[in-house]
Amino acid sequence: MSYPANRSDKLLRINSDRLWSRHMEMARIGAIEETGSCRLAMSAEDAEARELLASWCRQAGLDVQVDGAGNMFAVRPGTDPTRRPVGSGSHLDTQPHGGRFDGISGVLAALEVVETLNDEGIQTAAPLAVVNWTNEEGVRYAPGLLGSAWYADLIDDERLDGLTSVDGTYFKQEARERGWLGHGSEKLPLEAFLELHIEQGPILEQEGLDIGIVTTVQGLRWIDVDVIGNDAHAGTTPLDQRQDALLSAARMLVALNEIGRSYGSAARVSVGQLRTATNGPSTVVGHASFVIDIRHPDAGTLAKLSEECGAVCQTIGETAGCAVKITERISVAPTVFNKRCVAALEDGAIKHSYSYRHIASGALHDAANVAKVAPTAMVFVPCRDGISHNVKEYASPGSLAAGTNVLLHAVLKLAA
Ligand SMILES: [Zn+2]
Repeated sequence: MSYPANRSDKLLRINSDRLWSRHMEMARIGAIEETGSCRLAMSAEDAEARELLASWCRQAGLDVQVDGAGNMFAVRPGTDPTRRPVGSGSHLDTQPHGGRFDGISGVLAALEVVETLNDEGIQTAAPLAVVNWTNEEGVRYAPGLLGSAWYADLIDDERLDGLTSVDGTYFKQEARERGWLGHGSEKLPLEAFLELHIEQGPILEQEGLDIGIVTTVQGLRWIDVDVIGNDAHAGTTPLDQRQDALLSAARMLVALNEIGRSYGSAARVSVGQLRTATNGPSTVVGHASFVIDIRHPDAGTLAKLSEECGAVCQTIGETAGCAVKITERISVAPTVFNKRCVAALEDGAIKHSYSYRHIASGALHDAANVAKVAPTAMVFVPCRDGISHNVKEYASPGSLAAGTNVLLHAVLKLAA
């Protein structure tokens, strides 16, 4: 059977009640504070969540496979043996005070798509895969997005072999003991990958939209700034004869914020940490350092913004008689999602008459890694007050159903 050729009279819809009840059932594992979840990667709770997902997948007739980083792929065969699977999913692990939707919704939506197709007796040409990426959150094991990074060859086997948790446990040993480590370094190639995720920001809700079609994941730069002045006595050194590194840094923080604002609503410029060499009430600070976190979805703008941030710190430092050292620590280029995948999702939103907009993802996601090795895109659903990484995180059954309907449509298009 194909779609939509002989079903053009019928717009397929997922089962919203089943999708919601699976969320609630999953949330019982590692439940905290009424509406929260704590399932750190490869903990006993994560293993239990994986087992529950695997049991649902097997009931749906899927073949559950695990790779060398513990990533789960539950595969539904297609009718064309030459095609590779169209994958969809996200992650089941959570933050320590995590919610019921971040990551989980993407995995359960992928399963719901398959179950809807089972209910309707629809076969796709390409196989389908429900994917659960390992350790997206990076709480016990750093870095986050571990499973998808290994999948996309951004982390090699050697690094994975040596990876230990904050408490000294080897990742692979723990994954093996929990029963969630596959053999070898072979990766299941995907023809395309789609990830549904809660927005984790306030834009869709504030604009009253049903769906966000994610076109890019913003890039990131971390710039270390060292401001070097002179330690001095607060009582004896006249104000016009100081090289006050802390005062210079304070001026820089204000200027950086102003530059960020001048780049429009897509720009992010933040300083979340300020260190001073001395920390006493009567010493003028001779050395202050901080990291500028700069983000933007456009690579060229990100570069220009970073340059301007560095330059303003230099100028302010010089004016105050302080030396300024600028060092780039991290540079992650923006991810631009695949046009065909974006169009498939957008078409789903249009067919279902959902209100939507294109949106850049502010947070990193597994899909950004997968995009390096397979055509990929994401769909966002609104979440209440934009809150996530919080037990209060909430997405409504209607929002989740809308996102999953869009996902269903796009999966059918890509796998046809
Ligand atoms: Zn997530």
